[in-house]
Amino acid sequence: MFLDPVRDLLTPRLVAPGPLWSLEPEFMERYGLQGAILDVDNTIVGADELEPPPEALAWLHDLRDRHPVWLVSNNFSEKRIATIAHTLQLPYRSRAGKPSRRTLREVLAVMALAPPTVAMVGDRLFTDILVGNRLGLFTVLVQPPVATGGGWGQRSRTLRNWEIWVARQTGVLL
Ligand SMILES: [Mg+2]
Repeated sequence: MFLDPVRDLLTPRLVAPGPLWSLEPEFMERYGLQGAILDVDNTIVGADELEPPPEALAWLHDLRDRHPVWLVSNNFSEKRIATIAHTLQLPYRSRAGKPSRRTLREVLAVMALAPPTVAMVGDRLFTDILVGNRLGLFTVLVQPPVATGGGWGQRSRTLRNWEIWVARQTGVLL
């Protein structure tokens, strides 16, 4: 089927049952993962919030103790992403332009890990999952930490649902 390559590029290797912290910490070891790259908005923190929820903090502290972790965001606000990265004490890149591979390639070079051993964790199919699959990373789709509220968070969640609908039309099982 001509849509098969599209389907494969949009299919996460793993779909979390809920937000980031619904992933059991051992998922890294189970899938032979050595490092992780995480999206920020609606993955770690609601798109309209600046403070990551305590569950996200605890989950990331645990992960950071055991593996190299980077934040890679498409957000154009360097200040916002820098603030969140500082709170989490993690290296970061903003304005990444996912699904472009450029920024992730730079981060992977610094991590010095083979792509299949690196998790790409994010909430969006057309940015996080697409770029991760293009680079051969282990892609993980998570649900946004905040399910309510208006503003950009609401628009982003609507877009996320639309992407999932489109992906399903190409045969992605979600
Ligand atoms: Mg996001």
